[in-house]
Amino acid sequence: MKPRVLLTHPLLPEVMDCLEKEVELELATSEALLPREELLARISDKQGLLCFLTDQIDREVIDRAPELKIIANCAVGVNNIDLKYARSRGILVTNTPDVLTEATADLTLALILATARRLVEADRFCRQGKFLGWQIDLFLGQELTGRVLGIIGFGRIGRAVARRARAFNLKIIYHDPQRADILLERELGAEFCSLEELFQRADIISIHAPLTPQTHHLISRKEFSMMKNTAILINTARGPILDEKALVEALKNGKIQAAGLDVYENEPSIEPELLSMDNVVLLPHIGSATFETRRKMCLAAVKNLLQGLRGERPENLVEV
Ligand code: NAD
Repeated sequence: MKPRVLLTHPLLPEVMDCLEKEVELELATSEALLPREELLARISDKQGLLCFLTDQIDREVIDRAPELKIIANCAVGVNNIDLKYARSRGILVTNTPDVLTEATADLTLALILATARRLVEADRFCRQGKFLGWQIDLFLGQELTGRVLGIIGFGRIGRAVARRARAFNLKIIYHDPQRADILLERELGAEFCSLEELFQRADIISIHAPLTPQTHHLISRKEFSMMKNTAILINTARGPILDEKALVEALKNGKIQAAGLDVYENEPSIEPELLSMDNVVLLPHIGSATFETRRKMCLAAVKNLLQGLRGERPENLVEV
């Protein structure tokens, strides 16, 4: 008999076919958000769960699924899953690292350029028919050459951002609880520093740490007060790492200059005041959204799921 699997949202069509051949599949919804009651009702007889970062897989969900063997998350971040509780129940948890690193790093650079050179604001200006000719002071922005990029979280994506940033002649400083190898620091021209020093020195601050209890509101009022008033803040990691209300205040009071966000504290809601600010670029959580990457993420999630269901060690097992 095929194992019973709950898929919370459809995967890309070509990957759906391959999953349907291997398991008895129940697709929960094709809406962006799966209602919690439905998740709780449908998980009860499943051995496998393939889910996304929008699904909160907590103790209550896990308790409803006595036969569950594996939770395969189609994302690298696993902050939506109660890892410790899953482990205590002997349930494997997997993610999709590596395959999304380059796409997310690309998007980070796109946000850096868009905020530093005011691209979205300038685009709006053209569409509104306001462009009346070249002017010496039209949309002046910040030049990247020679500026300092502070990377918080120097893992896969943080390092991929550093590689790209070198091409723009940015000076790279970083903070991470685990200092990188000296050879890698040299290769990337990256200098390790404390978080406090990073806030004080960086012209552009980019977050690439996972969301954990330790990184929740890692940047709040106190941290904004340490930053340069010309600083640009980029977040393509997870929304709650940034105190969004404190960000609004910092932008309004000129404590920092601009922000580029792909993720939000209470996704999909966005602090209303951000929506009317010209110095903020807002994206709808599309860090990994390229055809190639999303396909690879789907394939990796399916592979992990099937390995776990067969009793094998999945390739991307998340260690707790
Ligand atoms: P990774 O595990 O390779 O790197 C994370 C790094 O953060 C590690 O080096 C870790 O030591 C460091 N870190 C942990 N706690 C920290 C702290 N308190 N302060 C500073 N650094 C800390 O992960 P990755 O593949 O680079 O992904 C990073 C995060 O990016 C993911 O957890 C995910 O939430 C997010 N992400 C977002 C998107 C998107 O669509 N916007 C796409 C992919 C990943």
